[in-house]
Formats: sequence, C-alpha cells, structure tokens
Amino acid sequence: MPKDPVQVLRSVFGYERFRGQQRAVIDHLTAGGDALVLMPTGGGKSLCYQIPALIRPGTGVVVSPLIALMQDQVETLLQLGVRAAFLNSTLPYDTQRQVEQSFLDGQLDLLYVAPERLLTDRVQALIGRAEVSLFAIDEAHCVSQWGHDFRADYWQLSLLHERFPGIPRIGLTATADERTRNEIVERLGLQDAKVFCSGFDRPNIRYRISPKQDARRQLVHFLRSEHPGDAGIVYCLSRKKVESTAEWLRAEGFSALPYHAGLSTDERQKNQRRFLMEEGVIVVATIAFGMGIDKPNVRFVAHLDLPKSLEAYYQETGRAGRDGLPANAWMVYGLQDVITLRQMVEASEADELHKRVERYKLDSMLGFCELTGCRRQALLRYFGEISDKPCGNCDNCLNPPDTWDGTDAARKALSCVYRTGQRFGAHHIIDVLRGKSNERIQRLGHDRLSTFGIGQELDEKQWLSVFRQIIAQGYLTVDWEAHGALRLTEDCRPVLRGEVSLSLRKDSYKEAASAGRRHIEARFSNPDDDRLWQALRALRRNLAEQQDVPAYVIFQDAV
Ligand code: ADP
Ligand code: MG
Repeated sequence: MPKDPVQVLRSVFGYERFRGQQRAVIDHLTAGGDALVLMPTGGGKSLCYQIPALIRPGTGVVVSPLIALMQDQVETLLQLGVRAAFLNSTLPYDTQRQVEQSFLDGQLDLLYVAPERLLTDRVQALIGRAEVSLFAIDEAHCVSQWGHDFRADYWQLSLLHERFPGIPRIGLTATADERTRNEIVERLGLQDAKVFCSGFDRPNIRYRISPKQDARRQLVHFLRSEHPGDAGIVYCLSRKKVESTAEWLRAEGFSALPYHAGLSTDERQKNQRRFLMEEGVIVVATIAFGMGIDKPNVRFVAHLDLPKSLEAYYQETGRAGRDGLPANAWMVYGLQDVITLRQMVEASEADELHKRVERYKLDSMLGFCELTGCRRQALLRYFGEISDKPCGNCDNCLNPPDTWDGTDAARKALSCVYRTGQRFGAHHIIDVLRGKSNERIQRLGHDRLSTFGIGQELDEKQWLSVFRQIIAQGYLTVDWEAHGALRLTEDCRPVLRGEVSLSLRKDSYKEAASAGRRHIEARFSNPDDDRLWQALRALRRNLAEQQDVPAYVIFQDAV
C-alpha cells in the first residue's frame, strides 16, 4: 500500500483530490493523533478514517450504528480491493469465525463492528491480540443525549480509551451543536483530540416554513408548481400517516412509495432501491428513512410534521441537494404538532433530565418556525456557526414577513388563559375570546367572564397564529399532562402589565389559499335530485377551465 494519502485516494478510491478538511484529518490521524470530525452529511467523513487505516499498520476498527450502513460500506470497499469485513448479529457463526481469524492474522485493513459487539469479552479479547491501527466511531452523536439519535450501546465506548490508550481514535458526526459536541468529547474521552469542524452551511438549500392549513393540499400545490417529476422525500411523524399520505399522493398522480419501520425488510429495501434507481420517485417516510442514503439529486425534502429538534431538521433537510444544485426544504407546521411531540416526550420512558433536554429542543424548533429573520443564519447559529449576513434565499429573506403590533392581542390571550384558570387548550381559549357560546362554555360559565368575546377582531386562524407565537416566545407553556392546557410563565408579567410591546408575524395564507379549498362540494340524499346534474355540469365546466381544481361530489344516504 502506498504511504502517500493522495496516491491512496487516486489509486484505491479513484478520486482526484481531497475535499475540505479531509487531508488535514488524515495527516493528523496517520501520525497517531486523536480527532473529532464535525462535517455535514455527504461531506466525505468515511475517507478520513479509511485512508489512515490503509496507511497505518494493522486493522482499523470502525464502530457504526446501522447494520445496513455497515454492509454497504464493506461491499463498496471490497469492490475497490480493500480488505474489509464486518461483525454483527446477521453473520452465521462460521463466517464470524473466519472474520475473527483474518483479523488476528492481520489480513484486514478495516473491520466494521456493531457497538454492542465491540464491547463483548470476545471482541475485546480479539482487539487485545490483534494489531489495531485506529478506532473510528462513526455517527458519534449517538453517544449524546443531546443528539437526535441516542443509543445506549454507545455510552460504553469510553472503555476503548481506557483499555487501549495507545490506539488513535477518531469520532465523526454531522451533528455539531455545542452541547452534543461537548458530550461526545466527554463520553468518548476525546478531551485532547483535535477538532475539525467544517462549514455546515448548505447554500443551495432554500428553507421555507409555513403554517399548516390543509397540509396535503399545500404539499400537492408545492409539488405541482415546483417539483413536477422530481425525486424527493416527504417526512411524516407516524406510520399511519406515511401510508395514507403515500396513497393520497399516488391518487394525485405522483409516484410515491411508503417507508417506515413497520414494513417488511423486503418492502423497505424494494422501495429504497426504486427511490435510488428510478427517476422522480417520492418516498413518504418516517425518520426511519435516510441515514446513509446517498442520492445526490434529491430535489426537495418536505415535512408534513414538525421534527422533534433542529438537529433532526438539519439532518433530514440535508438529504436534499447533495449535488449542489438548488433544492427545497419545505415544511408546514401547526400548534397541534408541538402538542403531539410534547406528549410523546412526556409519555416516553426517559428520565427527567432527558425529557428536559427534549422539551428544550422542541421549543427551539418551534422558535425556529416562528422566526421573522433569516432562517439559515438562525440554523447555523444553533450549530455554533456565526454568519453575519442574511442568506437572501430563505422564505423570510425573500418575503420578509409582515409584522404587526400584537401587544394588545397577546394581553387579551394571556388574560383569558388566566381567567379560565390555566386549565384549557388554545381552541377553547379562542372560543372564549371570540365569544362563541356553546354548551361547554355555558356549563363552565366562561360566557360570563370579562374576557368573553373581547377578541372578535381576529378569526380563529389568526388567533392560533398568535398563540403559536406567544408560546414560541416563551410567554405561555403547554402542559401536556393536562391535555395541552396553556399556562402562563414568569415572562408574561411585563406583557400583562403593558410594559413591553410584542411584534408578531402576519402569517401569509397565500400559498394555502391557492392550494386548497377551491373544490366544488355537493351533497345529495337523492341521486335523482336536480341539483346533482347542475353540480356535475358546473364541475365539468370548472375542470375544463382549470385542470387541477379538485372536485368532490358526496353522496349521502337518504335518511
Ligand atoms: P459522510 O459520511 O460525511 O456523510 P461519505 O463519506 O459517505 O460522507 O461520502 C459521501 C460521498 O462523497 C461518497 O459518495 C464518497 O465516495 C464521496 N467522496 C468523499 N470524498 C471524496 C473526494 N475527495 N472526492 C470525490 N468524492 C468524494
Ligand atoms: Mg458517514
């Protein structure tokens, strides 16, 4: 094996030159130093440890969290003539023995190991006897509770440092906000490691976020007007929603496939392959989809539900536009999303610290949605990168949101929450504000409150927007244990006393308005009804005028 990294790059991997900081990392590691590499997805982290493993004597041991990813990498390496193998639970016993023997005999350049395997006595004994050139811990954020993908097996990896202090280690991740970074350093004992941090900016991605109106119609409108025939990913929170959304998109004429952990392995692989090989396939997926997917021409990533953190948002949107050509990160979100995610956090088995972390992340995510300034700047700031100029490309830069003086509205909202005893969710409070009298409101006596009907000047959607924003700004919190009841925070006092004024964004409903609700709806109890024919004629006329106007005719049984 040649000793010069550039020669290895060319002769083994067939690439002409190094990218970004690859060379610096490789030199540092080859010389025996520890490294922490923070590089965005697709940046080329693998070469940072693969090449030093080829140059240094012995086998490079790589820890990687996903079996599929491991197998892919090994297959690719074998095709390049690199002596690589993996150890994980899928191997038959004989093969496992063979791999172990070649490791001991010094026949392997790279050995990929699942984290839970690495720490078994068996593998630890092997490592003690074989010659190891380096330890690489890929997707190192998995050690962090701050990360979006915490894995208990990763916690133990600090043992590597204690047991084999002489072997250089490299941790690699695409997630690099400061807290995650600190936790990686601490857990993996990388205090003395050199940190290589590459730019996280993805200038070709346009970030756009709007309030959820009629999510599917907004999505179809976005796809029709901007991405006909393009490949992309649509993320949803639940399996059920993945299925129904994929079905809906197919009915609308898109080639859309579902992907979630509830499908059989066969079906998942089939759908993933079609996404990679065919043109213009849309995958509708839960977060189970994506890690390790290397498709350069994904033109958009759409979120129908809010991701649970900005790390997850960055990671997921980062799958768009790896080829460097313009791509869209598009999302719609609503207050209900936040409540659902909050409920998931609270209902999880995690300990209190972990829950607090998750709540903080969710709040940051909501704050990011409600932002009036440059989204890219805010995203980079979250990851510890300062950019002094607004990007000029995100929705807020292109269409600076109109703002209005929401002080009065916020005060009304907050006092109504207070008057109703901080026991109700946004929808109920809005009904009271708007003076909507229904059975529940009367039973509770809320129609006799001084705040009843003081908010007629805004409609329901506008009030929802006010609530989302004052929650995002920290004046209210959502208490899931009380079914999403809103509670005042300390911060809201100056607002109630009229000491601060609040600027809120005016939500633009333009996109939603042109995307949905222009259907013809006719209900019939009797198909002989004359109106049936009138409606169908109108419908035909309308369709002739404008191809993509959705139209419904609903038949109801005669009662
Ligand atoms: P990461 O792990 O950072 O997400 P990978 O290591 O999987 O990224 O690399 C992403 C893609 O970039 C791969 O297809 C890889 O072969 C390619 N790549 C990496 N380094 C180079 C380079 N110096 N020149 C050209 N292509 C590269
Ligand atoms: Mg990688």
